[in-house]
Amino acid sequence: MLDRSARLLLGLIKQNGNEICADCGMSDPQWTSSNLGIFICENCASIHRSLGSSISRVKSIKLDNWDETQLQVMESEGNLRSKEKYEQCVPSCYKRPTAKDPQILREQWIRAKYERLEFQNPDKQTYLASRREGYLWKKGRDDKKFQKRRFVLDTTENVLKYYVKDDAKEPKAILRIDDINVALVPDKIGNPNAMQILYSQDGHTRNIFVYGEDGKESVDWYTAIRAAKLARLAIAYPGTTEQELCQNLTRDFLNEGWLSKTGPKANDAYRKRWFTLDGRRLMYYEDPVDPFPKGEILIGTTDKGFSVFDDITQAGKNPGFVFTLRTPNRSFHLAAEAEQDKDKWVVVLKSVIESPLSVQESSSMFRGLIK
Ligand SMILES: [Zn+2]
Repeated sequence: MLDRSARLLLGLIKQNGNEICADCGMSDPQWTSSNLGIFICENCASIHRSLGSSISRVKSIKLDNWDETQLQVMESEGNLRSKEKYEQCVPSCYKRPTAKDPQILREQWIRAKYERLEFQNPDKQTYLASRREGYLWKKGRDDKKFQKRRFVLDTTENVLKYYVKDDAKEPKAILRIDDINVALVPDKIGNPNAMQILYSQDGHTRNIFVYGEDGKESVDWYTAIRAAKLARLAIAYPGTTEQELCQNLTRDFLNEGWLSKTGPKANDAYRKRWFTLDGRRLMYYEDPVDPFPKGEILIGTTDKGFSVFDDITQAGKNPGFVFTLRTPNRSFHLAAEAEQDKDKWVVVLKSVIESPLSVQESSSMFRGLIK
């Protein structure tokens, strides 16, 4: 039998706005911040706890004791009111995390909201500046060591560049903001603040792996790149709403993992490769943190001759669960070690093949490459 306070709180989480976590949107939040008067999920509760009790006091709906004053705060505040207060001016390019996003994104969002009060005060949103300069640790091209490098992001010049030496006149590399994608990849490198920046060099994808000194530094760079991309897209597509443009600032990988792949000939052996699907670009690597993929396959649409299907004709020829990706030029037989991995690849690739090219895709390099 639940006591009175739990019954009252469970009634409150049915109210508009309280039925999802105030910070990540997960449904059925069972935790609260009793001084902020918000309902939050278990994951976000653990982040709130790390803020310290002067900022947020975490209490469970069912497991903790509640006094009358605390209940009144929950009743009079609630998630919607809290959003009005703490999310007054969230920049449209800021990536609001969901429960699926990496810890770093959820943690920095929560710290930005309640600890730094970043969305009450635009002066604190330094990532919106048209130029940003600072240090990131960057993985060496040919080794696994990370070195501190000076990075400069300049929206006016449309570049992200980095320098090997502090006093170097020439940057080591210049990346066009228009061409880059950035994804948070904590697991790939085993660093909670890691990012993968992809850009194209002579028509091929190149990756650099970096991390900031702390979570804030990484997410600030991540947001700065998104802000720069938004500024560039707004010039390129003047008729498009900001909301639409914001869906195309950075892309999380649609799927990643090890697959075995054959060569172009019928009797070629299967080789294990790391596959990454970035939008319509399926890349494969020897090692997940290689700077260059060994190969790239641009995924077009059904009417251009692309398809993907479970392939029983290949059973027995290889150790895993096989599917075939058919392109106008070639069929790729790919094998996953687990059936559910194979199923996921087929579902994800199918959804890419069945969706029409976006305005940006059809007006970009894809137009020439996907025939
Ligand atoms: Zn949450």
